[in-house]
Amino acid sequence: MTSTEPSKAHQFPSGSDAFPHRHLLGIAGLQPWEILYLLKEAEQWVDLNRKSIKHAGRMDGLTVINAFFENSTRTLLSFEIAGKRMGADVVNMHAAQSSIKKGETLIDTAVTLNAMKADAIVIRHGSSGAVQLIADKVDCPVLNAGDGRHEHPTQALLDALTIQRRKGDISGLTVTICGDVMHSRVARSNIYCLTTLGAKVRVCGPPSLLPAALDRMNVADFTNFDEALDGADVVMMLRLQNERMNGDFIPSPREYHHLYGLTKKRLSLANDDALVMHPGPMNRGVEIDSNVADDIDRSAVTEQVEMGVAVRMACLDILTRRSREVEGWT
Ligand code: ASP
Repeated sequence: MTSTEPSKAHQFPSGSDAFPHRHLLGIAGLQPWEILYLLKEAEQWVDLNRKSIKHAGRMDGLTVINAFFENSTRTLLSFEIAGKRMGADVVNMHAAQSSIKKGETLIDTAVTLNAMKADAIVIRHGSSGAVQLIADKVDCPVLNAGDGRHEHPTQALLDALTIQRRKGDISGLTVTICGDVMHSRVARSNIYCLTTLGAKVRVCGPPSLLPAALDRMNVADFTNFDEALDGADVVMMLRLQNERMNGDFIPSPREYHHLYGLTKKRLSLANDDALVMHPGPMNRGVEIDSNVADDIDRSAVTEQVEMGVAVRMACLDILTRRSREVEGWT
């Protein structure tokens, strides 16, 4: 497991060197200090977002295109709000109303977006790797808002920020991630993020929903949820990603809830102050019971949404910093 190396973690390089990447395509490969830098930068936007006037203006005059080829509520809205709060002109492109439906290739779409001179493009796509393909074709920073079952980096960052604010240092915490790990980009990005920051990560689910690649991901895997909960500081529940399943992976939602649903009784097996998380959308009564999801003392679900805006403001700001510096704006 990689350690956070606290002495280095708090000495961030300055300016655009503080995050030496052109795009944010995934968490895999990021250094602990790079993740901690993004989280530190997000903190200021949490404070701003709690004020009545929420305008930062750092991205005045820049254009952000949100190109969403897959449905989204939280991620699309929060990227839109984040871009607007930073002062950018934000345009949303929904695949259902685009030329994709007329058979345009992804590369032609990328070239078209590039010709519009966006300063950042945020992309969600149903295919793993599609965001990388677009990033290779455009001149501006690209942010991955979820690609297939591959990665959802800003979700992992907002989850890490939520955990850090509630629990302090992530290093050494035991985090149990339970559900459809196989099809979940949220699980994958969180595993990379949390293990990089030194957490002990357990993943749990029915054998049919645990990918073989877990062996290489520095996590402990469980098929018994009760055992996976014992001593957990954080319990992160995942939705069954039915839209990515080819055939049946579970006998029935009822049976699934019986074995892997987070109930009040089951939560009592985790640490007394264990934090409950869910990326949304939740399937209440399947992976999580309402009296757990809505328990304001234990559940961080709405806080996760709040942190999402701050994290996305930080990511947009940091990735466009280089081009703003070149133009001599900030
Ligand atoms: N909203 C998350 C995602 O886009 C989780 C989910 O859909 O279950 O991956």
